[in-house]
Amino acid sequence: MHAMARVFSGIQPSGELHIGNYLGAVRNWVALQDTHECVICIVDYHAITQAYEPALLEARTFDMAVGLLAAGIDPDRSVLFVQSHVPEHTELSWVLNTVTPIGELERMTQFKDKAQRQESVLAGLLNYPVLQAADVLLYRADLVPVGEDQLQHLELMREIARKWNARFAENFFPEPQAMVGQARRIPGLDGEAKMSKSLGNTVGLLDPPERIWELLRPAKTDPARVTRKDPGDPEKCNIYTLHQYFSPPETVRHVASQCRSAGWGCLDCKRVLADNMAATLAPIRERAEALKAEPERVREILGDGAERAATIGRETMRTVRAAMGLMPAREVTLRR
Ligand code: ATP
Ligand code: MG
Repeated sequence: MHAMARVFSGIQPSGELHIGNYLGAVRNWVALQDTHECVICIVDYHAITQAYEPALLEARTFDMAVGLLAAGIDPDRSVLFVQSHVPEHTELSWVLNTVTPIGELERMTQFKDKAQRQESVLAGLLNYPVLQAADVLLYRADLVPVGEDQLQHLELMREIARKWNARFAENFFPEPQAMVGQARRIPGLDGEAKMSKSLGNTVGLLDPPERIWELLRPAKTDPARVTRKDPGDPEKCNIYTLHQYFSPPETVRHVASQCRSAGWGCLDCKRVLADNMAATLAPIRERAEALKAEPERVREILGDGAERAATIGRETMRTVRAAMGLMPAREVTLRR
C-alpha cells in the first residue's frame, strides 16, 4: 500500500474554473499536497453528461489544466491528468454499475436538479455517481476533498465500495472519507443557487479586474436594501459571504457594520470586494498567463500524469477482474 494517505479529487471541464470551485475544493487540494499523495483529475467523461459543445470541450479541458496549475497544483508532487486518457475509469465504472442500486441513484439531489434542466433524462446523468465512485476507488484513495454538494455522492460511493468488497474481496477498496473545508458552499451571483459552472452565476478564477467588477456590480445582495438608505443584514448577502474570503478581518467587520447602518450603499461594498478579490487573484492570473504561453508544457504535464495514473489504475483493474472471475486475456491481445 501507499505510504502517504492518498487523496483523489476531480473537477469537470464543464465551464470556467470559478471562485466557488477554488474556495470549496481546489485550494484544499493545494494545501493537501504537503501531507498527502494527491491525484487530481479533470473529469471530461463527467462533463459530457450535461448539454455541451463538442467544439469547446478540448479547449475547456486545457484551460482547466492551466487554472489548476496556476492555482498551485504542483505536477512534481501531484498526479494531474485527464479522465478519458485513463480508460480504466470507465472500465471500473461498468463493473461498479453491477453492484449499484438504481433507487440510490434516482434519489441523488444533483441528479434531480440536473435532470430538471434536461429535455430527456439520459442514463449518463443517472450513472454519474457510479463513474465518480470508479474515479476514487480506482486509486483506492482514502480522502476526497469536495464541496458540500458532493457529500451525498461520497456516501453512495462508500456504499458501492462496501457492496463490491462484500461480494468479491473483503477490504479491497477502502471506504473513502469526504473532507469539506470551511467554504462548503459558495453562493452564486444570482443569489439563488450555489455557484456553478453550468449556471452562469460565477466569477472566474482567472477573470481580470474589469471583468470582476462587471460581474459584481449587478450581483444580488440582501433584498431588504431596496434603496441606498435601507439598512441590510450582512448574513443575508452573498457579497458579505465573499468578503469573508477575500477581505482582511477588519474590513469584514467594517462591511458588516456599514451594511447594518446603511452607511455604505451596496455598490460601495462591492467596489471594496472587487478590489480585494482582484488583488488576491492577481498572482494566479499571472501564472496562468505564463502557462498559456507554453501549451506544450501543459500537455506534457497531463501526459506524464496520465501515465502515472494508468500505472495505478491497471494494477487495480487486474485485481478487480481476477476477484470477479473474469477470464485473463492472453499477453498477445490488446489488454493494456
Ligand atoms: P457543474 O455546474 O458543471 O456541476 P461545478 O461548478 O458544480 O460545475 P464541479 O466540477 O461539479 O463544479 O465540482 C468541482 C468541485 O468544486 C467539487 O469538489 C465541488 O464540490 C466543488 N464546488 C462546486 N461548486 C461549489 C460551490 N459553489 N461552493 C463550494 N464548492 C463547490
Ligand atoms: Mg457540480
